[in-house]
Amino acid sequence: MNIKTKLTLNIGMLVAMIVLLVSLSVVNLQILTATEPTSPAAGPGLQRALIWVSIIGGICIVCGLWMLKQLPASINKPVKEITDGIKEIANHNYEQRLNLESKEFEEVSKNFNRMAKRLADYHSSTLAEIKAAKNYMETIINSVKEPIIGLDNAMTILFINDEALSILNLQREEVLWKSAQEIALRNDLLRRLLRGVQDSFDEKNTAKNEPLKIYADNKESYFQMKCMKTGREGTSQKEGYVILLKNITEFKELDSAKTTFISTISHELKTPISAILMSLQLLEDSRVGSLNDEQQELAQSIQDNSDRLLSITSELLNMTQVESGKLQLKPRVTKPIELIEYAIKANRVQAEKFNIQVEVQYPEEKMGKLFVDSEKIAWVLTNLVSNAIRYSAENGRIIIGARKTKDNWIEMFVRDFGKGIDPRYHQSIFEHYFRVPGTKVQGSGLGLSISKDFVEAHGGTLTVESEIGKGSCFTLRLKA
Ligand code: ADP
Repeated sequence: MNIKTKLTLNIGMLVAMIVLLVSLSVVNLQILTATEPTSPAAGPGLQRALIWVSIIGGICIVCGLWMLKQLPASINKPVKEITDGIKEIANHNYEQRLNLESKEFEEVSKNFNRMAKRLADYHSSTLAEIKAAKNYMETIINSVKEPIIGLDNAMTILFINDEALSILNLQREEVLWKSAQEIALRNDLLRRLLRGVQDSFDEKNTAKNEPLKIYADNKESYFQMKCMKTGREGTSQKEGYVILLKNITEFKELDSAKTTFISTISHELKTPISAILMSLQLLEDSRVGSLNDEQQELAQSIQDNSDRLLSITSELLNMTQVESGKLQLKPRVTKPIELIEYAIKANRVQAEKFNIQVEVQYPEEKMGKLFVDSEKIAWVLTNLVSNAIRYSAENGRIIIGARKTKDNWIEMFVRDFGKGIDPRYHQSIFEHYFRVPGTKVQGSGLGLSISKDFVEAHGGTLTVESEIGKGSCFTLRLKA
């Protein structure tokens, strides 16, 4: 029955009852007025009329109240059913259907059911696609030989491959959909990985991403950790992390073999080079016989090249010391001026050769002392002065000096007014074997990288300020 029929029926019933009540009252009133009020028949007649009016009136009131309760409820019922249906759909219950009998809602009901069916079909098809995609992804991740771990924003482990489980020494069911932070409480390696995730997105963190030493495949292995963020900020996509560990054990082994090889060769080369230099000294001795001009020139060339060879072998030896972690510092109390004087003395011949004037800027007031391996720091300063001379034009000048900073650091600097260094290369010149493109002066590209390693091993810094055409200033900062 539709709402219109219901309303008509209800109002019709009410009108009929009112008409019945009024007609009854009129009939009773007529009976009353027709009979003599004092006649004996008037009393019972009046009573009968009152009883009928009360009965009919009571029935009318009960019917009215019943209609008052039923009518709004019967109109509200389909609206409520529709609202409930929509709520169910919103809660992803796509099996919900409506079965409204009233005519007005029949169409709504049909359309609702059609929509619910389509949603159910769509949902089951996308779910199947997502499941298939997930299976593909899991197969790919498991086939990768590098350990991979996927985390969501709350650090829950979403996926993990067999390699990762193997190095973490965990079972899949122990970790999947569990909080990585909780598991990390009893797993050292996972704890290190989570710290790595934090560090890799911490802008203030400037520490190098050192390889992780992990016991895997029954031997010590090295892994380089790479952490990537998934999802995009500002979109509805949730952020997460993917940890990828690259096994670099093979490269490490090759690198260490290379270091050992260079170290052995450099060491072995030192003896014959020293022998050449010794023979050269004997050759130049007048007691052995005098050399003509051409022979002297050749002897000088042998001397220069042997010196260079000796300096390269010593640089290579220093580098292998740093690379193999065998750098041993023997610190002692040293005055900065002693180191400066040593560097000047070591470069005197070279400076005279190119007629370079070396100036010293050393403050009058008390400078303080350094507690450093003086051999190593003197080597650094010697190398900086040598560079300043080599990369300056003839007849130039260089300044070497020291100063104390307010925060109790001692800064030693070597300034030249030579060709300068393009700012693009200010970082790279401190890397092994790097030489600024187009550099004609001979060199190995090792001096500055070793110097930086030596200074950093003392907890200090080595920096450069330089401008093309104006010269360069290298500053070495050490704690006083
Ligand atoms: P090498 O001097 O043996 O090549 P270094 O490590 O000492 O190696 O220097 C690396 C590079 O930095 C040099 O090849 C040179 O191009 C540049 N360089 C270093 N010092 C200076 C300087 N004082 N002036 C200009 N360029 C410099």
